[in-house]
Amino acid sequence: MFCVKCGAECEDFEDSGILRQKCPHCGYIHYKNPYPCVAVLVINDRGQVLLGKRGEKSIYPGKWCLPCGYIEYDETYFEAAIRETKEETGIISPPDGIINVVSNMFDNGVHSLVVVMISYYHGSEPLKPGDDIIDASWFDVDDLPPLAFSADVFSISKYEKMLAEGGITALTVEGNSVYGH
Ligand SMILES: [Zn+2]
Repeated sequence: MFCVKCGAECEDFEDSGILRQKCPHCGYIHYKNPYPCVAVLVINDRGQVLLGKRGEKSIYPGKWCLPCGYIEYDETYFEAAIRETKEETGIISPPDGIINVVSNMFDNGVHSLVVVMISYYHGSEPLKPGDDIIDASWFDVDDLPPLAFSADVFSISKYEKMLAEGGITALTVEGNSVYGH
């Protein structure tokens, strides 16, 4: 790879046992880190969960998943959750709390860190699949279609378990640090 700062060709560099790329010209070290992402477990008034069917260009096409995606640089994870849910399913449903955080290491080499939020949806907007999602629908939690990600299966079962144990408490989506605004 070439240096993102000066354009020189980088070299292998072992950093405490981790192989990285380092620029011999300016010394820049290319750190490779997981991508921050969000997923939203949207629950309607009937207790159903909102899922999207993945398009042909996605990893695991044809399978279903929670609304999810990458956090853009100029937004908080909370804003990303609202945006991804709207883009992929057409509804606006702000998150009510965090239900899980998972590390996903996919077959395509992508490693993502996913903040999984829960959102209680009380509206009745029609679902409109969009972005890389080709269908969107509400499902009973005991009658789910094939899911793309085991982390989604886990988050849904965690939600059921929390419900059975008396509900979800002590959740928060507050506390972001936004400086200079
Ligand atoms: Zn450089």
